Amino acid sequence: MSLINEAKKYIVGGVNSPVRAFKSVGGEPPFIEKGEGAYIYDTEGNKYLDYIQSWGPLIFGHCDKTIEESICAAVSKGVSFGAPTKVEIELAKEVLDLFPHLDLIRFVNSGTEATMSAIRVARGVSGKDDIIKFEGCYHGHSDSLLVSAGSGAATFGTPSSPGVPADFTKHTLLAKYNDIESVKECFKKGNVGCVIIEPIAGNMSLVPAEKEFLQQLRELCNENGAILIFDEVMSGFRASLRGSYDIYGIEADMVTFGKVIGGGMPVGAFAGKREIMQQLSPEGPIYQAGTLSGNPVAMSAGLAMLKKLKSSPDIYKDLEAKAKKLMQGFEEISKENGIDIQTNVVGSMFGFFFNSIKPKNFDDVNKSDTKRYAKFHSEMLKRGFYFAPSAYETGFICTVMQESDIEATLEAYKEIAPGLK
Ligand SMILES: *Cc1c(COP(=O)(O)O)cnc(C)c1O
Repeated sequence: MSLINEAKKYIVGGVNSPVRAFKSVGGEPPFIEKGEGAYIYDTEGNKYLDYIQSWGPLIFGHCDKTIEESICAAVSKGVSFGAPTKVEIELAKEVLDLFPHLDLIRFVNSGTEATMSAIRVARGVSGKDDIIKFEGCYHGHSDSLLVSAGSGAATFGTPSSPGVPADFTKHTLLAKYNDIESVKECFKKGNVGCVIIEPIAGNMSLVPAEKEFLQQLRELCNENGAILIFDEVMSGFRASLRGSYDIYGIEADMVTFGKVIGGGMPVGAFAGKREIMQQLSPEGPIYQAGTLSGNPVAMSAGLAMLKKLKSSPDIYKDLEAKAKKLMQGFEEISKENGIDIQTNVVGSMFGFFFNSIKPKNFDDVNKSDTKRYAKFHSEMLKRGFYFAPSAYETGFICTVMQESDIEATLEAYKEIAPGLK
């Protein structure tokens, strides 16, 4: 029996996070046995060049020695205490040092927890229940964020999953990415206490925000007394060392982190200005807690990651050059084969769309040819290239990927492109 079928007997759908099941691209997911640098190996001994990298965290690739050693050293002292440890201070300092506009941080265990808790704080501080989110942005799976648009733009959301009461989403207004007019309408419709956005959207493949749009969003929040949350769970330490802050220079009131910040271990965090964060328990009345939050093993991995990133600030240029080489190659090969493609690169993140127009928002993204993506995915996987099993995900370059890896990927794409027509 294949492992996925065996897994399905015990684990819902055989997976512990739905995208891993390959539903949108077809085929069976390989079960991974081990990773090594830029590669992963499945249980049947097949080797793949890994463009997913655990969905972002592994910017130095698999089994990075520095991170591995920090984890082992932490484990040998005990895996969890539920009490304060020094490594939490060290990681907090490393993160906050990067952002002059963020004073205090709290660590949690996932990106979902980070955004959920940040929104609670924002609501508590502003005293207003309504929030604005953007179509196509993903902020984890908490109730008030699992919304899809009602009829027309700028409406209150309806639950996008059974099990989420409509009452829980009636405070979530949905706006259009890169469309400031839709945000203004939302502000008119609701009593908005906070706006949450991925400043570099990585969950509708990769769609960066326009700078002017983010600037206007900042101004609108100021005018309306709303707290601006940048969800940088993916883009933080990935798009550049300081995420969107290096690229746009815009200061959010709160920022959420995840993925890279844990070096591959489960870590999330939310940070903000002092006057906001001080409202959080135990300093203030807004409650949030976690048995394993600030776990010493996870914190050690994050600390090793952050230190290594800070001591090699030039990696982002190199990562971006490689991502561009890959995307430019895809464009050229697609053109030769009469395939419409659009690409985006931000630092170590890349995204491409089988689409005749360059997407600026979720509506545009939805016009992409997902069947063609599914074919692309399975053909590349057969040849040893592990791309995301969904057209709506971002791809990642890691530092140990070589020029020759990119070239091999382009050779494979050249081979399969005629069949994608
Ligand atoms: C991955 C992601 C999350 C959710 O993080 P989890 O660790 O999967 O809960 C939230 N926001 C963004 C932008 C993400 O990419």
